[in-house]
Amino acid sequence: MADPYLPALEDFELNADETAAVAKALEDDKPWDWKPEDQKELQALKSAKDKILAYHLSRHGGNCCYCRLNLNGAGPYMTDREHILPKGKPVYKPFSYSIWNLAAACKRCNMQLKRSGDAFVVDPDDSTKFQDSENYRFVHPNFDAYGKHLIRLQAQADAKNIVIFVKTPGSEKATYTHNFFALHELQVDSFDKAQGLEEENLETELAARVRALAREFDQ
Ligand SMILES: [Zn+2]
Repeated sequence: MADPYLPALEDFELNADETAAVAKALEDDKPWDWKPEDQKELQALKSAKDKILAYHLSRHGGNCCYCRLNLNGAGPYMTDREHILPKGKPVYKPFSYSIWNLAAACKRCNMQLKRSGDAFVVDPDDSTKFQDSENYRFVHPNFDAYGKHLIRLQAQADAKNIVIFVKTPGSEKATYTHNFFALHELQVDSFDKAQGLEEENLETELAARVRALAREFDQ
């Protein structure tokens, strides 16, 4: 049954040229990295990849699918089209362009932490399970509603930041995702230092509000 927290994947569409280019790419040994010589085909494949990224970014409110970093305006140096089942392993290659196997992630989560491993897949050999949420140890960008497992709370005022991750109690996926993507590294609270200097400044108030919000989620 469709999860009301997740936009449907079924509404994603490629046009005829893009579909044909993707089909040809999938015949190649490296489907995602295939470079057609035909300019029209090259354009169609680029257009398909652009559509995939735009679709997934909007699906996650413009945020990284793993750490919820806001990628609004971040551009290609910070944003990756992420293959959830890595594209390098032969068993996963047929899913190089499958919309359910793609997402938008920040460079840190994709390149630095997730890389090309698949330890997060429960059964990496049975392709009939690849579209099941239960076959993934982390919060799957397309089969799980992130907010049901993890909430990223944050506020920034000038040079002061507060970032807190709240895990849903009892969610194994929250714990696994939190560890796998080292989300503790992203937690920060530089508002604390302002306390004691000025009693009622806006920044302290903001930090207090985010902490209160965190407590509210952390029930
Ligand atoms: Zn990220």
